[in-house]
Amino acid sequence: MSKQDPKSNQTHVLSVDVEDYFQVEAFAGLVDRKGWDKWPSRVVANTYRVLDLFDRHNAKGTFFFVGWVAERFPHLVREVQSRGHELACHSYWHRTVYSLTPDEFRNDTRQAKQAIENATGVAVNGYRAPSWSITKSCLWALDILAEEGFTYDSSIYPIHHDLYGVPGAQRFPYTHACANELTLREFPPATLRFLGTNFPAAGGGYLRIFPSAFTELAFRTFEKSGEQVVVYLHPWELDPEQPRIRGPLKSRVRHYTNLKHMHNKLDTVLSRRKFQPFKDVLAEGAAATIAQLSSGHASDVVIDEHISEPIHTIAHRAEGGR
Ligand SMILES: [Zn+2]
Repeated sequence: MSKQDPKSNQTHVLSVDVEDYFQVEAFAGLVDRKGWDKWPSRVVANTYRVLDLFDRHNAKGTFFFVGWVAERFPHLVREVQSRGHELACHSYWHRTVYSLTPDEFRNDTRQAKQAIENATGVAVNGYRAPSWSITKSCLWALDILAEEGFTYDSSIYPIHHDLYGVPGAQRFPYTHACANELTLREFPPATLRFLGTNFPAAGGGYLRIFPSAFTELAFRTFEKSGEQVVVYLHPWELDPEQPRIRGPLKSRVRHYTNLKHMHNKLDTVLSRRKFQPFKDVLAEGAAATIAQLSSGHASDVVIDEHISEPIHTIAHRAEGGR
């Protein structure tokens, strides 16, 4: 498919985790959070690069802001909103959820939500955990998110990884029934399944490092079954000139590989397909449900065709049924 070809009719989801290059988990052991103010910040310029690239393709997405960033650069939050994107929450201090107590998680989430909402006055409904860190050991976080007014989450990666992931979790969007009788819509990032294993596709380092043919295969596979790929990226991934942090080799490989190719890779992805933010996916789902109800086919309404196995059951099984 060339860049001149018309875009596929299927719409996908675009998401950006707005954080600075020194706030990532890969270097958390080397960068003291209390010293973040001392680092030369590049998040504003890098987020403008993302915004300009999205504008060129008329692509709209969801921007999950780190609260610390939103508080220091409220004009950036307003700029993202003014360009037609959705604002959402990526924690305040970018700490892994599984390293926090429930109270610490609740306080961090409140602080972040408030900082982002203060910038624009617009309510924030979506959450993404730092480093996909809602795992089977901290599913209580979903209950807290629902209690704090969030309607959806995109934090559970259905893969094996040394830092994150729930390998048996569902690969497509589903409604999570919280322990407190509330619900939360869950949007997993895209994976391809081969030989009984889920492989991450079309996001962050996987978009940067894997061949473009693999990313294209992910889109085509999802489109065959009418599913939406959830693409994610970080502003620092479009910044090959960022200062280098001398972390462990594995961290440097994950963070720095192919930074100079990311802009072109994204440009190609955006030229081929249409993208929307999570809030539009939710609105379309609600509209479809209302249309079915008002057409008198209430008995045909399927609120969630992907509820086959609640995540609590999966977690229980993964723990050996204990
Ligand atoms: Zn992050």
